[in-house]
Amino acid sequence: MNSKFKWPLLLASAFIVNSNAQNKHSSTPPEVSPMPMKPQMTEIWNPEVPVITPAKKLGDAPSDAIILFDGSNLDQWVGKNNSPAAWKIVDGDHMEVLPGSGAIKTKLKFGDCQLHIEFSAPDVVFGESQGRGNSGVFLQGRYELQVLDSYNNRTYRNGQAGAIYKDHAPLVNAMRSPSEWNSYDIIYTAPRFKANGNLDYPARITVLHNGVLIQNNVTINGLTKYIGLHHYPKGHGEDSISLQDHGNKTQFRNIWIRRL
Ligand code: MG
Repeated sequence: MNSKFKWPLLLASAFIVNSNAQNKHSSTPPEVSPMPMKPQMTEIWNPEVPVITPAKKLGDAPSDAIILFDGSNLDQWVGKNNSPAAWKIVDGDHMEVLPGSGAIKTKLKFGDCQLHIEFSAPDVVFGESQGRGNSGVFLQGRYELQVLDSYNNRTYRNGQAGAIYKDHAPLVNAMRSPSEWNSYDIIYTAPRFKANGNLDYPARITVLHNGVLIQNNVTINGLTKYIGLHHYPKGHGEDSISLQDHGNKTQFRNIWIRRL
């Protein structure tokens, strides 16, 4: 044989021997046919999923919700320095920001939650951009979902109604006119912190505005500050939901929450 062809031949035979050896001494278990599956093998029965009663009307509270405001009183809320909340109750139906009285916050503290809240911009249209119908829903008292009259009212996109303030613009502007009511349905996952107080992983939020998805499981990048880049504070636990007094007579009604 011409020596030119010797090496490829030798290599090829070595490969055959080697692969035979591998088959003989392989640690891979021999293939066995799986046990035939039955439907019951993938059914989980216990514990039973908790039974609750959903509301008759979409947007109303299910049986396992905590009612934060039903139009009758502000017993679940406090104002500055834990004083009684000073905002106005109107017609036993909704509350209205009392400009200058300060934010109000829930007595109860929350972390992960599903929150439903309805709001209406002031009926008298006044001001423009951030000055019109401004308020806000602050999760854990720190992370603001913007409330604004964004009906025919341009402002910076990450500051309009439905924005995570200066963090994420809403996907669409689903705002109704100031004479109508809006709803936010919020699914919020609180940030987690390490034992030393540093951020472990950030908060996430999903928001539907009038039933329309406007924030799709977005990451909140920290305190939703007016000036400067957003970052997380040192670790904190559950905290109040607060509503902002931005000097406008924004109205709220039908507020309920479920702990997740
Ligand atoms: Mg605001």
